[in-house]
Amino acid sequence: MKRTADVVIVGGGCMGASVAFHLARRGVTNVVLVEREQLLGTGSTGRNAGGVRHQFSHEANIRLSIESIAMLERFKEEVGADIDFHQDGYLFLLSTQASVEVFTANVARQRGLGIAVDWLDADAAAALAPGLVTEHVIGATFCQRDGIADPNGVTMGFARSAQAAGVSILRETEVTGVRIVGGRVAGVDTTNGAIDAPVVVNAAGPHARAIGHMAGIDVPVEAYRRHIFIAQPPASGGRWNVPDSRVMVIDFESTFYFHREGAGVLFGMGDPHETPSFDLTVQWDFLEQVSPVAARRLPALADALIAHAWAGLYEVTPDANPIIGAARDLPGFFLINGFSGHGFQHSPAAGRILADVITSRDPGMDLSPFALERFEDRKTGGEHYVV
Ligand SMILES: Cc1cc2nc3c(=O)[nH]c(=O)nc-3n(C[C@H](O)[C@H](O)[C@H](O)COP(=O)(O)OP(=O)(O)OC[C@H]3O[C@@H](n4cnc5c(N)ncnc54)[C@H](O)[C@@H]3O)c2cc1C
Repeated sequence: MKRTADVVIVGGGCMGASVAFHLARRGVTNVVLVEREQLLGTGSTGRNAGGVRHQFSHEANIRLSIESIAMLERFKEEVGADIDFHQDGYLFLLSTQASVEVFTANVARQRGLGIAVDWLDADAAAALAPGLVTEHVIGATFCQRDGIADPNGVTMGFARSAQAAGVSILRETEVTGVRIVGGRVAGVDTTNGAIDAPVVVNAAGPHARAIGHMAGIDVPVEAYRRHIFIAQPPASGGRWNVPDSRVMVIDFESTFYFHREGAGVLFGMGDPHETPSFDLTVQWDFLEQVSPVAARRLPALADALIAHAWAGLYEVTPDANPIIGAARDLPGFFLINGFSGHGFQHSPAAGRILADVITSRDPGMDLSPFALERFEDRKTGGEHYVV
């Protein structure tokens, strides 16, 4: 095991793997990525819905999407891995005038940044997703270049490429402390011994706050459980009236969403009563709350079999924007945390930006919306499209 490195990355999800890849691309390969589980990508990354969209409300997030989606489109050529990216679009259904007004402003912002987003009426929305019921829908937005990709493919693509360039990956190794000497980062303690390094990256997903505490830095990221259910066609056979395409449909008011997943349908919904915790047990009572909403929008789900379900953790900041950059009060400590339910899709750009910051390059965008210190001023104006 390496005892010294230029950079230690804590966490082997999509963020840690992306930072490792982009550092290696910049010639920084004396890097150790430390993951406490046996495999990479088993945290939030391995439990997400795979959704990728341009449709965000905050300009900084739209910019992360533009760069990330462009990279996902050329992932095979650029990183060398298949990621099963289907650009069948994201369809947002709106049922209140207030939402239509918010989306009107946001569609203008998205179009201003060059994104082709369409306004649809309820009938046109229904035509995009056979089986969908658009009762009470008064408007919808659709972006064809949004879609679904494979989080494991992306994470392993980044990790393998970084490893091939010389980055070390330590599995089953837990970071237990951040070492600080003379007011700056000096390395980490792990369950397999210490690693000296002048740079430590906190890429611990929902556990970012714990790594922050080890360094004396408060990282305001809370973990919230979110469920995903997989429905299969009813055993009786016959035609199952669900979309053939993988269009992602989001009922914005209820946060119910679904997309085709193999022969089945993947669906989920936010639970407004969920409180912060690291609990990953599936709460089957919650399905009783989701089912009527699901059956109203996609009646085929009413008599479907629930074949599989799991829970994962959203890593949520107070304004639902991520934290990307250096910790002002601790030289050598860097953060890539708090993506608030949309981190998988932003991992390509976020990792590139942090690699630029670490290597003192110009990241080419205003990082103030992502600064850790923004929370000191209680500034608002974060992301509104948290699904
Ligand atoms: C149900 C659900 C659906 C989602 N749907 C989408 C979606 O459709 N689109 C999208 O873009 N995003 C989605 N997300 C969000 C996305 O999954 C996350 O934003 C993203 O995976 C965060 O990646 P990460 O690498 O920061 O965290 P993680 O994947 O959790 O990785 C962090 C890693 O750090 C490791 N670690 C923690 N502490 C230590 C330690 N002390 N020592 C060593 N290792 C440590 C963990 O084991 C873990 O592997 C969803 C999330 C959930 C839960």
